[in-house]
Amino acid sequence: MKTPVHIAVTGAAGNISYSLLFRLAAGELLGPNQPIVLHLLEITPALGALQGVVMELNDCAYPLLHGIEVTDDPYVAFKAVEHAFLVGARPRSAGMERKDLLTVNAEIFSVQGKALNAAASRNVKVLVTGNPANTNALIALKNAPDLSAANFSAMTRLDHNRALSLLAEKCGVLVEKVNNVVIWGNHSNTQYPDLHHAAVNGKPALELVDNGWFVNDFIPRVQQRGSEVIKARGQSSAASAARAAVDQMKTWTFGTQPGTWVSMGILSDGNPYGIQPGLMYSFPVTVDSGKVNIVNGLPINEFSRKKMQLTEAELIEEKDVIKHLLAV
Ligand code: NDP
Repeated sequence: MKTPVHIAVTGAAGNISYSLLFRLAAGELLGPNQPIVLHLLEITPALGALQGVVMELNDCAYPLLHGIEVTDDPYVAFKAVEHAFLVGARPRSAGMERKDLLTVNAEIFSVQGKALNAAASRNVKVLVTGNPANTNALIALKNAPDLSAANFSAMTRLDHNRALSLLAEKCGVLVEKVNNVVIWGNHSNTQYPDLHHAAVNGKPALELVDNGWFVNDFIPRVQQRGSEVIKARGQSSAASAARAAVDQMKTWTFGTQPGTWVSMGILSDGNPYGIQPGLMYSFPVTVDSGKVNIVNGLPINEFSRKKMQLTEAELIEEKDVIKHLLAV
């Protein structure tokens, strides 16, 4: 039997985790032959509810689940972990401004960055889902000076999956026939879901759908899909976010298929698209042996350039609000 891999999940009593933990324990990330130990982090008041989730995990009798650690201490949660899903974040409450939301979450992610720096495996893959995910990931990264920027990413895979699915539906094909959509920028409604490089059954997507649909329907729908789900379900998307978190971590661990790419929020230093360095920005990437490479050389027209800059501007603004937490 292989040695178990240690995986941390924060916000473990929350909605997304309620779907994520069971996927991990079933082997969806690392396969059917790799045992795991889950390290579950929660804030102290949520530890009681988390015990209920632990009971359910135990009641599933998963053969791959070799242990569960429950804690409210990030240094314990991140000890020797190879994968960390940072899901927990403070939701916006009544009367809270965007700036307050950024600040309160920034504090959480600076503490967690320091703990990852001290305790996690040097190869840890840290995936930030908790919103504002890109800026939270930047804060965690900057507070972990002994880890590399390559240890951190922000989740834009749900946006990517939403784009694949909407395009497949429009073209009347299975989702597996669609590839190379791109999510540029921030996981927010300024993100730019781009179809200029996408293919459906090997044909350029924009030869199959009209430009009016792309601009007036597809882009706003991907950008606002979260709100659409909330309106219909009365709660924010959770299962699809958990699925996307597993997808992103899995691609990061095992690589992309030849000829295809995915979207990932990564540090923009050295990017070939002129995006300001020092931001966690979503790019099209390939992954080989755990190394993430931005897809180079995609032609960018004036329309795309403007959209890429709009979402870049939002990330610059977010960074400005929390800049005091970046100097370690
Ligand atoms: P969820 O599990 O639904 O969401 C967690 C985070 O993911 C939020 O920031 C949320 O942002 C984001 N998110 C939700 N849906 C999506 C999506 N579709 N795509 C991308 N991101 C998404 O929230 P809960 O309130 O149920 O759970 C949060 C948990 O975190 C609580 O149990 C709380 O106690 C815990 N927590 C733990 C901390 C810690 O471990 N130190 C710190 C703070 C909180 P949005 O709200 O914008 O949808």
